[in-house]
Amino acid sequence: MLLPLLLLLPMCWAVEVKRPRGVSLTNHHFYDESKPFTCLDGSATIPFDQVNDDYCDCKDGSDEPGTAACPNGSFHCTNTGYKPLYIPSNRVNDGVCDCCDGTDEYNSGVICENTCKEKGRKERESLQQMAEVTREGFRLKKILIEDWKKAREEKQRATGNPSSGERPSVKKLIELQAGKKSLEDQVEMLRTVKEEAEKPEREAKEQHQKLWEEQLAAAKAQREQELAADAFKELDDDMDGTVSVTELQTHPELDTDGDGALSEAEAQALLSGDTQTDATSFYDRVWAAIRDKYRSEALPTDLPAPSAPDLTEPKEEQPPVPSPPTEEEEEEEEEEEAEEEEEEEDSEEAPPPLSPPQPASPAEEDKMPPYDEQTQAFIDAAQEARNKFEEAERSLKDMEESIRNLEQEISFDFGPNGEFAYLYSQCYELTTNEYVYRLCPFKLVSQKPKLGGSPTSLGTWGSWAGPDHDKFSAMKYEQGTGCWQGPNRSTTVRLLCGKDTMVTSTTEPSRCEYLMELMTPAACAEPPPPEAPTEDDHDEL
Ligand code: CA
Ligand code: CA
Repeated sequence: MLLPLLLLLPMCWAVEVKRPRGVSLTNHHFYDESKPFTCLDGSATIPFDQVNDDYCDCKDGSDEPGTAACPNGSFHCTNTGYKPLYIPSNRVNDGVCDCCDGTDEYNSGVICENTCKEKGRKERESLQQMAEVTREGFRLKKILIEDWKKAREEKQRATGNPSSGERPSVKKLIELQAGKKSLEDQVEMLRTVKEEAEKPEREAKEQHQKLWEEQLAAAKAQREQELAADAFKELDDDMDGTVSVTELQTHPELDTDGDGALSEAEAQALLSGDTQTDATSFYDRVWAAIRDKYRSEALPTDLPAPSAPDLTEPKEEQPPVPSPPTEEEEEEEEEEEAEEEEEEEDSEEAPPPLSPPQPASPAEEDKMPPYDEQTQAFIDAAQEARNKFEEAERSLKDMEESIRNLEQEISFDFGPNGEFAYLYSQCYELTTNEYVYRLCPFKLVSQKPKLGGSPTSLGTWGSWAGPDHDKFSAMKYEQGTGCWQGPNRSTTVRLLCGKDTMVTSTTEPSRCEYLMELMTPAACAEPPPPEAPTEDDHDEL
């Protein structure tokens, strides 16, 4: 940064030019002490010694540039190193430092430090930074515009007619819509093919299912017969080929009136009034009534003792659980347990719900056998038809989505050169103490509590909202969630030039009306060409 330093050199001696207090360098030639002074408005001519004599002679106050004598006068601070400044005369010697060089307080007793160099340095720094941001932002903006152009050319190539004057996205849309029609036809055709293929598939599968269910039923009947036969053999203690009332009574678990024992009458009732039954009528008439209760003596003995309650954790505080058994009861139960080891049917307690006897591996038998070749062929053909149909349906959905997007895209104005197009389909967030604000340009603005909760809409895309000469400097989002007893929320998004794209602030200047600032290179104006310093700059700095 050698240049500004060099520029400062002539300034340093420039202020040495002799002129009355409070006169700018530009005006110093009006104040020639060798001649009478003519007021700058020409209203009077006075001897030069009446300039700055603390008495107001000129209507325009020009004879008192360095005093507070004229109410409408003004005082010029040179402010070397910073910006020159005119202040109203009444601020001269008023005890407040108004000029950074302190020249306005020459006779008030107040000592003003000269802060001009520091201020100048800071300003130059911030100007340089701003200029740098603008330069870089504008460079990025040009890239954005190039990208947009390329994307449009891409679309033009895709439509195959670059010479058409129509907007490429419009052409693309027309083409997509035509494509959609033929895709719809294809989907319908494939749907018919699929339904045709599914008919024999369904029939073959049903047939297969029916056969299998019949097999299952037959196997089940077979098992029941075997179970009944086993039970019969077991009950027929004297092996005379019949089960008598007495023999049935050895199985008290068949008790029907709940008194724990199978009386003669009950046993007889189970035998349909007869005193005995042979194997055939046992299966036909008796087995169904007793099969769920009947417990074979040949049950495996490694089952847990069926009636022993869990005594390890009596829970007194829980009312629904019966109070823990007394010592007597415990003794009883221990006896029972011992008895049950050898002979279970003595137990007075209801037996645990044992599942009815089943063949060794029911899972194996319940599994449907694989389809035969013909059925499988039908299934494969139908599946292929389904796949094709679904694929076409997906393509149609994708195409509809593209059409929707394109239609939306066409309706947007992305700036004079499409520089704002890149914001479309992006979202930017800003988190404050309380909320997460979310801006999806050309779509919506929302606000969500930081600690969770559903978002509130602060408006959906409305229009560009900058002033006429700078339309693209602001966006308006409208018709957000209604305020309680108030209007719908809305948001103005101000676009500021910056190197990055980010939401920099959110405020609510008036109720339900939000103001957001989005930094984006697309908002950067072309920076002015680097200025050649003029004579004036030398003087006034
Ligand atoms: Ca005067
Ligand atoms: Ca002052």
